[in-house]
Amino acid sequence: MKIADKKTSAEKMVREALMKAKQYADYNIFTFLNEENAIKKAREIDEKIARGEEVGRLAGVPYALKDNFLSPEGQTTASAHILEGFVSPVTATAVKKLEDEGAIMIGRTNMDAFAHGSSTESSYYGPTLNAHDRERVAGGSSGGSAVAVALGIVEFATGTDTGGSIRQPASFNGVYGLKPTYGTISRYGVVAMASSTDCIGFFANTPEDINLLMEIASGQDPKDMTTLPDYYNTTKLTNKNVKIGIIKDFDNESVDPDIRKALTRKINSLKTKGHEIVELEMPTLKYALAAYYIIVPAEIASNLSRYDGVRYGFRSEKSEDLDALYKNTRSEGFMPENKRRIMIGNFVLSSGFYDAYFLKAAKVRTLIVQEYEKAFEKCDYILSPVTPSPAFKLGAKTNDPVAMYLEDAMTVPLNLAGVPGLTIPAGKTEDGIALGLQLVGPRRSDKALIAFAKELQDE
Ligand code: GLN
Repeated sequence: MKIADKKTSAEKMVREALMKAKQYADYNIFTFLNEENAIKKAREIDEKIARGEEVGRLAGVPYALKDNFLSPEGQTTASAHILEGFVSPVTATAVKKLEDEGAIMIGRTNMDAFAHGSSTESSYYGPTLNAHDRERVAGGSSGGSAVAVALGIVEFATGTDTGGSIRQPASFNGVYGLKPTYGTISRYGVVAMASSTDCIGFFANTPEDINLLMEIASGQDPKDMTTLPDYYNTTKLTNKNVKIGIIKDFDNESVDPDIRKALTRKINSLKTKGHEIVELEMPTLKYALAAYYIIVPAEIASNLSRYDGVRYGFRSEKSEDLDALYKNTRSEGFMPENKRRIMIGNFVLSSGFYDAYFLKAAKVRTLIVQEYEKAFEKCDYILSPVTPSPAFKLGAKTNDPVAMYLEDAMTVPLNLAGVPGLTIPAGKTEDGIALGLQLVGPRRSDKALIAFAKELQDE
């Protein structure tokens, strides 16, 4: 990552990033550009450097912030109408840590409203376009962040991953994207989706940049009781004779031939480098998607109950009494996908259906956790596709929620198990559409996992 030094200046870097952001305006990447503040902050950093004062590890580095991170700069809307006009009084811990090191937020990025989605088409502000093919989706929900990095507007961007929202758009746009071990980065000040799977992570161009960002952003936070004490590494930090697991259950016709070819290419290159390939049977993973789409909506329904038109953002003006105010605000303020999840969530939690759905899904989740534990007795990491297919055409799945959910079949198992996963760019199709693969490690192996990603870099 370029750090502001004597050769360039923070102001120059920030102005360039802002200029590029405007050049690519028709991609609909940003919901807000932080022009005034960003330039002011850059000047302060340049003055510090001129005075010979210490500056942070990200001094003057422009970055893009997913619109579900709270900070007083611009409105935090999570790309949802119901949060329109909400200016946060607090700053997310992750944002504070990045900015303490001198990073400068140049804009907030578009996303599926409340992070519900796999394409960034379910945003109140309209879809973001794919960086390599404007007729295709950016992926989601962190689509804006992925495209901002892929088009070279910023060096890095933040994301959240509840069921794939970092890894899938990273793959669709050909950049690195990490979902860390659950609890590695504080979620204080980030709009909650599903609290038992939400993770914060990053998009960047190299594994080294991801590692630096993790060192900065991770750590225990008294404001988030789920945070782990450190940016953990419990596995050996070696890139010699590593055992890579391949999931047999994923190797079938439902996976796009280009993705399967990319996987075979990487497997062969790993073998040439002296690593061992181990075949894994993980039969429970096929139930992950069903369990996810019960557990996650249940948590969504609870987390979204706070948006009532009284406390935050938008309020419907039509209402005559309080009940109508709640009803109208929520009817007008949520996207159809948000409402679908609220309905499913309340259904699976309702007294008559709790045992049949939520409890059963929770049991499946335990089996998935155990399946990963067993798999990592046989190998150090797992390499798999991120999605069954590369970026699809805009509009192709918007009227078919189940087809959209099927996108997540290979990403959600990690969230249910809490294990880390890194998307690694894996070339392009003949038509120039980006391909990616996912490297998965045991809980708290993040640092080793990122270091191993170098072995998989495109030659
Ligand atoms: N696409 C998944 C979903 O819609 C994941 C979303 C996310 O990770 N925020 O639930």
